[in-house]
Amino acid sequence: MDKIFRVNMTDLTTKVEAVPAGWAGLGGRGLTSTIVAAEVPPTCHPLSAQNVLCFAPGLLTGTAAANSGRLSAGAKSPLTGGIKESNAGGTAAQMLAKLGIKALIIEGAPKDGTWYNLAVGVNGVVISEEKELLGLGNFAVIDAVEARLGKKTGVLTIGIAGELKMTAANISVKDPDSKIRSHGRGGLGAVMGSKQIKFISIDGEGAPGVKIADPEKFKAAAKVFAKALLDHPVSGEGLPTYGTNVLVNILNEAGGLPTKNFTVGQFEGHDKISGETMHDTIAARGGKVKHGCHAGCIIQCSQVYNDKDGKYITSGFEYETIWGLGADCCIDNLDDIARADSLMDDIGIDSIETAVMFGVAMEAGILPWGDSKGLLRILSEEIGKGTPLGRIMGGGAGSVGKAYGVTRVPVVKNQGIPAYDPRSVKGIGITYATSTMGADHTSGYTIATNILNVGGYVDPLKKEGQVELSRNLQIATAAVDSTGMCIFVAFPALDIPECLPALIDMINARFGIALTGDDVTNLGKHILKLERQFNIEAGFSNVHDRLPDFFKTEPVAPHNAVWDFTDAEIDEFWNF
Ligand code: SF4
Repeated sequence: MDKIFRVNMTDLTTKVEAVPAGWAGLGGRGLTSTIVAAEVPPTCHPLSAQNVLCFAPGLLTGTAAANSGRLSAGAKSPLTGGIKESNAGGTAAQMLAKLGIKALIIEGAPKDGTWYNLAVGVNGVVISEEKELLGLGNFAVIDAVEARLGKKTGVLTIGIAGELKMTAANISVKDPDSKIRSHGRGGLGAVMGSKQIKFISIDGEGAPGVKIADPEKFKAAAKVFAKALLDHPVSGEGLPTYGTNVLVNILNEAGGLPTKNFTVGQFEGHDKISGETMHDTIAARGGKVKHGCHAGCIIQCSQVYNDKDGKYITSGFEYETIWGLGADCCIDNLDDIARADSLMDDIGIDSIETAVMFGVAMEAGILPWGDSKGLLRILSEEIGKGTPLGRIMGGGAGSVGKAYGVTRVPVVKNQGIPAYDPRSVKGIGITYATSTMGADHTSGYTIATNILNVGGYVDPLKKEGQVELSRNLQIATAAVDSTGMCIFVAFPALDIPECLPALIDMINARFGIALTGDDVTNLGKHILKLERQFNIEAGFSNVHDRLPDFFKTEPVAPHNAVWDFTDAEIDEFWNF
């Protein structure tokens, strides 16, 4: 029987609770957003004791379903001021699910300066004072926790950014190779820091495992689902070969690769940072071209990137990071971008927010365009040491824009706009504007249909069809984020007719229920409306569903496109 593990950091107590009836059919994002909406006063300060940090594995996590090992983390975001869900791979999700933990909820905050660690096991949570690992980076924390508690221990940790409550701080998750995956967006590491928890260890010993109501039906559906993932050209071929970085050349060609802080849509150094170059470099240096961020991932978009001497630099080297530090900062040195990625993992700071921030910082004159060595120095000497400049930069793109009077600040709801220019790929602009999460490409990835011809085609340069496309994808994504599935299952789900029914069949076989496709769509709608209501009560309205003005007034080459949606057209999004 699944349980809720609850920790109160004010009085340092823990409880194991039954799952409330209304939460039983929920997992992942559906559950974390329900918990935040139910337990967090929308107007509270996100770093106060009133905020709640919760973790929930998805409905299929811990089963043999391919790509189902994602963990959702939720809270009120200190970056956006709205509700936040951020999901990550790694080993924690499957361990929590197998322990029968439907959600881990952390409330309150210590009244003094004492720091703690949490040890999660089959019988509950133990809170212990933590001194030794304070001030350490995430890689050292993972090594130290493994030395203390054994190699198999799951770890959720914050680096110096989380300890200092920087609003771009992330929560890091140990992956199967003892490296790092991240709950990246929205500053959830600062919320963990506000609760003065340096790390959470997970002991899987004695875990009862996940029970399947109808094993035969589950097995049959899992087989169909896995085949669809491997048969699709994007999830079966493009992602395993080039990683997400396959997109650099594609977006450059489409004129949608934001360059030099979103002033141009193409980068002349694109070849040097492309997925094709990355693939060849990894292969030549004895790294791993494909790699999974959790057990059971069969797409394997991750990789292990080594330096020229064959020494490990980073893994999980994503397109959005490479675009942001590359094209957006005019840096064409892939090795330096990889070193920066590793530093950001260690400091525990969101690599998208930080990359967008560096574009704004270069515009502000803090460092020259293309200065990769200066960028590495700032990461380690300023942000990594929490100097005053480092703290401003650790607050993300909006923070630097305000501190330095920059007007071209690509954020929505104060969250940095990622790697796709909304003027030349208009569907993603609707997602940035309307997402309950702030600018977030993953919440409704219209690039699939605007650029990759997945799920049909909607012309990226025209307004027609974009609102509907973003709405449909955001609804579907909210539901998929509740299953524990990696977002990349969306590619086959949009194109291969058997894929989505197989996913629903797995959920039905797991729980012995009879969900229909309409039920799943209604779940997605319910989650979006719940999140929006939280944001409205936190002080947001339609006027926050807007892109920065410069997108309307500055045409972007090569198409000379501008953001030309009226407010009324954007607001149509919520008509469902
Ligand atoms: S496809 Fe990539 S992001 Fe998705 S589960 Fe696999 S490694 Fe992780």
